[in-house]
Amino acid sequence: MTATIIDGRKMADALQEQVAAEVRALAVDGIRCGLATVAVGNDYGSRAYVTRIKRITSRLAVPHQAVTLPADSTQEAVRDTIARLNADASVSGVLILRPLPPHLDEAGIFQELSPAKDIEAVHPDNAGLLALGRPRYLPSTPASVFHVLDEWLDAAGEDRADFYHRSLIVVIGRSNNVGKPAVSLAYDRQAAVESIDVWASRSGRLGWHTRRADVLIVAAGVPGLIRSEHIREGAIVLDVGINPLLDPATGRTRTVGDVDFDDVINRARAITPVPGGIGPVTDVWLVRNTVTAARNALTITATEPK
Ligand code: NAD
Repeated sequence: MTATIIDGRKMADALQEQVAAEVRALAVDGIRCGLATVAVGNDYGSRAYVTRIKRITSRLAVPHQAVTLPADSTQEAVRDTIARLNADASVSGVLILRPLPPHLDEAGIFQELSPAKDIEAVHPDNAGLLALGRPRYLPSTPASVFHVLDEWLDAAGEDRADFYHRSLIVVIGRSNNVGKPAVSLAYDRQAAVESIDVWASRSGRLGWHTRRADVLIVAAGVPGLIRSEHIREGAIVLDVGINPLLDPATGRTRTVGDVDFDDVINRARAITPVPGGIGPVTDVWLVRNTVTAARNALTITATEPK
């Protein structure tokens, strides 16, 4: 079997048209919309992500304020930045890039964000609503994973509900921003779900879990983690990983996923490439959430932290 390669760029283009229409509608209604990103330090992945965000916000004419703080910033300095963005009426959504340097208390920083502007659902209020199946915002990466899967199922002529009800979805990686919300979104679709993390690998049980998956979502941050022997014939493989890989021959760094694409393509039913799979949809989804936040700003009560 040779897998269908799922074209994330094409799906992102279609989504971008919808978001562009929403941005135009906001302007007609006189509503301000803007995205702020906060990066602390100089992480490779964060830098690459901010570059992509610059591109998509400029394409969609959504103002973007990119804040970069030094790696040795104190908790107070980061908190002050968040307070400023919470109070800035030109900012409707805020993304705090991960990873934060280890000396910072990530949960404490996320808690400072105004829930109305917390478009990645990292504030406990929004994370809780998401876990309860009543999301205010769908965090862009897991939302994009399921957007891609839903769209692909439609294109393949599958009945979405029937597919999910009979499928086992295995999610590799259990971070608060990707793995756990992906599990919540799989629950919302009434699929059977398994969540595994690094301990499954360390205990030699990775393949035991992954080989039973109808859908395998891989978000571990480990290049080449998943090979053909880890999947069952006909599985759908969605690769979230974005990893820098240095090519010793050229000295250049390129981006690879967590899945050994060339190996898995001969066994899967469908697969997302890296780059060109989940990533482009994630970028558009972030702007989509920024637009939603601009509308929410009009309705969310003044009792919530600003
Ligand atoms: P993280 O480091 O916060 O979490 C990684 C998770 O993977 C942890 O639960 C860990 O236990 C698990 N893990 C690590 N090694 C493993 C192994 N050998 N076997 C099984 N599980 C293992 O990372 P994250 O923020 O969740 O990101 C994961 C990957 O997704 C990274 O490559 C990141 O760059 C990428 N990412 C992509 C997008 C996108 O838009 N496509 C967005 C965010 C993150």
